[in-house]
Amino acid sequence: MARLVMKFGGTSVGTLDRMRAAAARVKAEADAGESVAVVVSAMAGETNRLVDLAAEAGAGAPETRDETDVLLATGEQASAALFAMILRGTGLKARSWQGWQAGVQTTGAHGKARISDFDGAALGAAIDSGEVAVLTGFQGMTEDGRVTTLGRGGSDLSAVAAAAALKAGRCDIYTDVDGVYTTDPRIVKSAHRIDRISFEEMLELASLGAKVLHTRSVELAAAKRVPLRVLSSFVELGNPNPGTLLCPEDQIMEERIVTGVAYTRDEAKITLLGLPEVPGTAAKVFACLAEADINVDMIVQSPARGGEHANMVFTVSMGEVERAKAAIIAAKEIISFKDIVADEDVSKVSVIGLGMRSHSGVAHTMFSALASKGISIEAVSTSEIKISVLIRSEYTELAVRALHTAFGLDA
Ligand code: ADP
Ligand code: ASP
Ligand code: MG
Repeated sequence: MARLVMKFGGTSVGTLDRMRAAAARVKAEADAGESVAVVVSAMAGETNRLVDLAAEAGAGAPETRDETDVLLATGEQASAALFAMILRGTGLKARSWQGWQAGVQTTGAHGKARISDFDGAALGAAIDSGEVAVLTGFQGMTEDGRVTTLGRGGSDLSAVAAAAALKAGRCDIYTDVDGVYTTDPRIVKSAHRIDRISFEEMLELASLGAKVLHTRSVELAAAKRVPLRVLSSFVELGNPNPGTLLCPEDQIMEERIVTGVAYTRDEAKITLLGLPEVPGTAAKVFACLAEADINVDMIVQSPARGGEHANMVFTVSMGEVERAKAAIIAAKEIISFKDIVADEDVSKVSVIGLGMRSHSGVAHTMFSALASKGISIEAVSTSEIKISVLIRSEYTELAVRALHTAFGLDA
């Protein structure tokens, strides 16, 4: 029998009725002969509620991170139990599996743990015996038995890891959109579903803000060659639901110059003013950020002119602004700068496409489209298959729409 992993996100298990609809899909697959492992998220809104509760109880301090994970993991525990009950109501054999019961072993980085080992033997034996296994997404356990979570949106990663551990023939991610779109369909009505997307493009889209899939789930699917599909849990069972298939680049027939547009408001800009124009200054700045374990994304250095000092701009994720500032201020004597300014009212907007490797003029089209809307660019970063710009956050939606049109993506 073929093995199948079906993952249902927060909205797809948001109410008992939604769970019943999802369970009907599971039953259809099981009746068709698949050995099914289900991965569930917490019910929509539940993880946020628990995060707020933890904050009220004093979470945030490093010494409470382990207990925050114990709390957050309860969201998935509740949905797995409810889902298993509902499956039993359909006549299937089913049971819930928490991360630790299924053998999802992780590092001890609470709140952003990485899966270090996942032995699918027990889970595999259970589903091959005809029982549906309902695994809690988002959570695992350290070697010394503490509960961890994988980072927000991490149930996608649990699903792909389960599919890899089970050597499943397919991993289906059911969500509230019917696939991966050319951009977030919530902000661009003319966005359209992409039939097939390469792992490389999806990895860029996800890491640059398209939250339809967790970045590390795409990374793992690419590394383990897990056939991954994103599809809707809202299409009526029996109706066509093609979704989006993630696949290796060589299986994409038609190479598009730009495949999608992504945005994130989760980045903040830090400006260092009045830096001495001597070799080694940038090295000192980034040494102290590295020591504080802070990831830097975009970097722009403007050289000194006519006796002035140099300035440097870089971006970090919103959650790390205060730590980044503190780390730099602590090294003020060593770096020797005049002032530091943090600005959170910025967004990063990116265009992504494999065709950029072989076509020129993408930056020109992008910058012209933004200029025509009067949007100025504060920083730029590029890779082989993407260009990102930093702009004022009030222009985010305008910029995404303008780029979507400029690259011919409107449906
Ligand atoms: P789930 O709870 O099922 O994991 P998420 O909310 O994490 O669902 O992800 C689905 C959401 O991702 C969609 O509702 C959509 O608004 C958003 N999204 C952002 N970018 C894209 C994109 N390019 N394609 C599809 N959805 C996107
Ligand atoms: N429940 C977790 C979250 O909301 C994990 C997930 O849904 O993927 O982030
Ligand atoms: Mg998600």
